[in-house]
Amino acid sequence: MRIGFIGLGNMGGPMALNLMKAGHALVVHDVRPDAAKPHLDGGAKWADSPKALARASELILTSLPGPKEVEAVALGPDGIIHGAVPGTVYADLSTGSPTVMRKLHAAFKDKGVHVLDAPVSGGVWGAQRGTLQVMVGGDESIYREVRPVLQAVGDKVGYMGPIGAGTIAKLVHNMIGIATRAVFAEGFTLGVKAGVKPEALLEAIRGAAFGQGLMLSQMLPNVIFRGDFDTVRFALKLARKDIGLATELAREYDVPMPLAAVAEQIMVEAMARGWGDKDSTAPWMLQEEAAGVQVRERK
Ligand code: NAD
Repeated sequence: MRIGFIGLGNMGGPMALNLMKAGHALVVHDVRPDAAKPHLDGGAKWADSPKALARASELILTSLPGPKEVEAVALGPDGIIHGAVPGTVYADLSTGSPTVMRKLHAAFKDKGVHVLDAPVSGGVWGAQRGTLQVMVGGDESIYREVRPVLQAVGDKVGYMGPIGAGTIAKLVHNMIGIATRAVFAEGFTLGVKAGVKPEALLEAIRGAAFGQGLMLSQMLPNVIFRGDFDTVRFALKLARKDIGLATELAREYDVPMPLAAVAEQIMVEAMARGWGDKDSTAPWMLQEEAAGVQVRERK
């Protein structure tokens, strides 16, 4: 397939090379022409503008810093929209904004061009090895058409829903990952200051319930998605005791743990609802109530 690739940075550079390795003919563009050297050396063609690139492509991909650059490259005076021919697919691989992606979807639809949002996750190593998770939003039939191409950049390509859904999934993932780092920082500073070696802590956490990935493999699909908070696997009153003992230890050692303190207060509120003999996942219902939505399986 003739693929146009704009944005040959830390992620886009190796993704474009993997598409070439998979046998596609690439046309490339970047505001830093130097970034294209390995691609041009490997036989890719250069385009002077997004518009010129779009004219020469059946599929257009962008991997740009953020929504501002994506909007400029897509809709700007020399943008993709002025070159793309009807029937072309344009998929943005950047981490951006669902609102901007919906705007692009509507603007390109008038030109007969299909837009997908397809952000990726897995870091530079994943981009080099082709092991990214790709999260796609847009028309499902268009997704099926380009899925084989996207499999050259990521061995995990998933359909998330209508336009914008890929970006929503990516932002939720990054929020969870980034917030979890802050929780780990609290836990490891407490453990080390209280006298346990970091390597020993890592070994313990890797081998225990959290480290075994039970949150993702068991708790979410089998408990939360089914709303089964009454079958007790680990009682709320015991979990409340454990986080209370941990924050007590932190006070003893003068380790600030703001996130653990909030988590403890959420447990206290759930206890006050009379849920002590329910499962320790029951506080999830407080967040569902506050957010006005339930996280249940929808087939
Ligand atoms: P980067 O800054 O290394 O690459 C961006 C590229 O876009 C650069 O080569 C830059 O010159 C080019 N560019 C910027 N504005 C341009 C324009 N107007 N026209 C043409 N080219 C332009 O960034 P990155 O780390 O490769 O990230 C790209 C996207 O992927 C971002 O949205 C980022 O959030 C996301 N992402 C990054 C990682 C990561 O680990 N680096 C992981 C997953 C997703």
